[in-house]
Amino acid sequence: MTPDIKTDSQTGASMTGRELPPTLAPLRELSWNYWWSWAPDGAEIFRDLDSNLWQQCEQNPRLLLTQISDLRLTQMAADPSFAERVQKLHERFVAYTSETRPWPKLQLSPRITKQNPVAYFCAEFGVHNSLPLYSGGLGILAGDHLKSASDLNVPLVAIGLFYRFGYFRQRLRRDDWQEEQYRENHSDELAVHEVKDADGQSLVVEVIMRDRKVVARVWRVDVGRVQLYLLDTNVPENEVTDRLVTGHLYGGDRETRLVQEMMLGIGGIRLLEKLGIEPAVFHLNEGHSAFLTLKLAHQSMQREGLSFVEAANRVRERCVFTTHTPVAAGHDEFEAALVEKCFGDWPQQALSLSMEEFVKLGRVNGDSQEWFGLTPLALRMCRSSNGVSKKHGEVSRELWRQMWPNVPADKVPITSITNGVHPQTWVAPLLRRVYEETVGEDWVERSRDASVWAYGIENLSDEELWKAHQLLKQRLVAFIRDHSFDARLARGESEAHIEAARTMFDPKILTIGFARRVAGYKRWDLLLSDTDLLTKLINDSQRPVQFVFAGKAHPQDQGAKQVLQKLLDWQRDPSVRQRVSFIEDYDQEIARQLVQGVDVWMNVPRRPMEASGTSGEKVAINGGLNFSVLDGWWLEGYDSDNGFAIGDFSELGDDEADLRDAESTYRVLAEEVIQRFYDRDEEGMPRLWIAMMKRSVQTLVPRFSSDRMVAEYVERIY
Ligand SMILES: *Cc1c(COP(=O)(O)O)cnc(C)c1O
Repeated sequence: MTPDIKTDSQTGASMTGRELPPTLAPLRELSWNYWWSWAPDGAEIFRDLDSNLWQQCEQNPRLLLTQISDLRLTQMAADPSFAERVQKLHERFVAYTSETRPWPKLQLSPRITKQNPVAYFCAEFGVHNSLPLYSGGLGILAGDHLKSASDLNVPLVAIGLFYRFGYFRQRLRRDDWQEEQYRENHSDELAVHEVKDADGQSLVVEVIMRDRKVVARVWRVDVGRVQLYLLDTNVPENEVTDRLVTGHLYGGDRETRLVQEMMLGIGGIRLLEKLGIEPAVFHLNEGHSAFLTLKLAHQSMQREGLSFVEAANRVRERCVFTTHTPVAAGHDEFEAALVEKCFGDWPQQALSLSMEEFVKLGRVNGDSQEWFGLTPLALRMCRSSNGVSKKHGEVSRELWRQMWPNVPADKVPITSITNGVHPQTWVAPLLRRVYEETVGEDWVERSRDASVWAYGIENLSDEELWKAHQLLKQRLVAFIRDHSFDARLARGESEAHIEAARTMFDPKILTIGFARRVAGYKRWDLLLSDTDLLTKLINDSQRPVQFVFAGKAHPQDQGAKQVLQKLLDWQRDPSVRQRVSFIEDYDQEIARQLVQGVDVWMNVPRRPMEASGTSGEKVAINGGLNFSVLDGWWLEGYDSDNGFAIGDFSELGDDEADLRDAESTYRVLAEEVIQRFYDRDEEGMPRLWIAMMKRSVQTLVPRFSSDRMVAEYVERIY
């Protein structure tokens, strides 16, 4: 075994070697823990070091500190007010990380301790933009879960995979077709520590798959007080194919997916064993990690000499499962032959199960034609299962009721906990300050308390809230202009068109954001179903509208790419192009810019396919209004005075329903959203609109925060 494995990046030496001036020295320690990304003044400090470089490095402080010029560094080191900010941030970091008590009001089970934490497994983690190991909602949710667990001081470790190429980067060709580019993640440019064993050697775990031993080394990421461990098979001992087991997130064929999931589940348990961690609870966040239950059964059989059935009962006591997908086709499944190919004789050797008995664990009703599904496996092997909104709980009970043939649908044991977002991660710094003043310095700790918000926001003046929102909107307009300028330049568009980017969008015009994966059920094409009418609304002389879009289509989804192409083609039309923008390569940073600056966030999923959705929750904390189909979280959040609803409660899921929802979208937009936004008093203030903004903050922020979500997991599930 080679002891010190380096990646092929060239920057390694300078990364560790660089001296920082004493007043800035704490920045190194800060850059190693993602706490900076949600701490007040954290991101701002790194940005102010060198704002152009910050953007070039894609908000990666590790890179920033390597690449910043000596001149700039000495300049900032000599600036006393900057040095003081650094010192304050560092003091708060030390205080944060040394606090060991759980959040006072939290009813934490005594079984869960630092020695026996919750082990949280997920295939993707969206902790920060500079750690691109996520594709969308699931990953961002997992990242927010870790941050809230850290803030509430819940003992929790997380297990995931270190993808060498992450998820793809979106590039739009001149003919508007989406292309995928993969960039290599270099561990020495990221805030990841290699985990070593007691002898200082790289810690490795081994999993037998496809009849070969595959080894993975381990990286540790510090997310506040939570440790996230990532398995990485890109090591020289592995065959070329096996080095790519953790190559791409959601790339590759079903076989790659299966071995990836073996590494996550089985490798993850081996890792915890090597680290000496004995979790009290294993949380399977989505089915990808469900093989961990079988590895745990193997452990119990070995250690306690139990039969598989006895061991499975023990496993069930320790495992809990969250499902995120409301359609059967969205759940991972594998044909029996593939399971046999990848697992070989492990079921027999480890669990004393025949291949037939083994595959049955992943079948809904045991029919020998059925594939092996990770959701049925997880449902069978976990003591608790939940969906991610009330509606999704209901849909999941219906979807999986066959697994409990003697139980009526409403008694199927799948409950729900509605997803939330991490307030400090998503709130604009400007509004954070407003909340500190109106709700209180401790607004974060009290963010679950609805009465605190009701009272605090009531005392916030219309003028102050509107002014803050206008500033954020101006920032969004500048962001859109900047991005569009660069994108047009890169695509070699005409000089006039490139230049026009400098004047596109107007901060006074009603601005609607629509950003999410380009997937069929998200119905991107719904808005484009009547482009004549839409163009008219956009160009109304008294009450114009502008739209900002962003989102990626899955590489294999040709239909979604066509929808994207249609949208891009339309937005280039001279009649709308100054008021419509598509921002390429949607990621966490673009999401942050959009949710903090728009007036309205639109979402038109086909009911009931939006398990929860979280981006609208990010908008709510920033004072924006939701304009959405009543599905997922919005079905719970909407109260008729805190935003706008599209369509009704029907769930036909057919073309007719799409038509009706399209009609409703246009009608509500024209008759309610636009009307209300431009309804001004003699001072030019939209009083009714601002009242809605306030009501939105008051009613939605306390309910849809990840602090509330994690607290619920702790108290009801763990
Ligand atoms: C929040 C977020 C999502 C999830 O969006 P929904 O469509 O509302 O579920 C996806 N991608 C990014 C980058 C996000 O920040």
